[in-house]
Amino acid sequence: LRNITSEKEVQKLRELDKIKTNFIANISHELRTPLAAIKAYTETILNTEMNQEEIIEFLSIVYEQSIKLEQLLNDLLDFSQLESHTMKLVKENVNLCEILDRAIETVRNLAVQRNVEVRTSCKNVMAFCDPRRIEQVLVNLLSNAIKFSDEKKETKYVTVQIDKTPTNQVEIVVEDNGIGIPEDKLDKIFEKFYRVDNELTYSIPGTGLGLAIVKEIVELHNGEISVSSREGVGTTFTVRFPASENSN
Ligand code: ADP
Repeated sequence: LRNITSEKEVQKLRELDKIKTNFIANISHELRTPLAAIKAYTETILNTEMNQEEIIEFLSIVYEQSIKLEQLLNDLLDFSQLESHTMKLVKENVNLCEILDRAIETVRNLAVQRNVEVRTSCKNVMAFCDPRRIEQVLVNLLSNAIKFSDEKKETKYVTVQIDKTPTNQVEIVVEDNGIGIPEDKLDKIFEKFYRVDNELTYSIPGTGLGLAIVKEIVELHNGEISVSSREGVGTTFTVRFPASENSN
């Protein structure tokens, strides 16, 4: 019996080791891509004669890429806070529809690039929450919905609906008609580092940390997140958390 246990433990450790190796390869790639772009574009600006318009165009690419780097570092910092359970919320009363507007602004370029329509439904939903963190939840869910959209579909969309339930819970539903997630992988996607193994995940950048961070933030708001999905049809994420302090 002892031997079986230790064999299982060794296997588990091997898996963990593989996950970490993959993660480092992944993160190195994620860092290198924007860095290479920043280097190449600044080199061109420095070594080529360019007019003002061209310089501005190149600098905006440099700016965009540095934002990518910043986001990646923020994810890593959040992840270390998640691991040490030191993430702190700064709660206030906010209108979630305004937060949604800001989140949509952040993903607008990505949505245009991938030709994904973003549809929303939100009317003055007030909640006591950490606006920065909830915005991060929305940005993560929205950018996943856009990233994993289905090229084969003529109309690609993601809809976000924010409401309050009769029990004074905030309900955020993010639905897409993307590639979907295989049923046997649904409980894995919230695990740190996990990415579904398919063609798209190789070409689409990501660390597999996004949903682990989202889940932690939602749980810190005393809420929960669930997912339902069908391969080739689409995916729906539902987030619920108490709208006010005393609805806990
Ligand atoms: P990342 O986006 O960095 O890969 P996440 O933790 O955000 O990491 O997501 C984990 C995995 O879950 C993704 O790699 C992808 O395979 C799957 N996934 C998440 N959201 C969606 C979605 N809306 N549609 C299809 N697959 C998704």
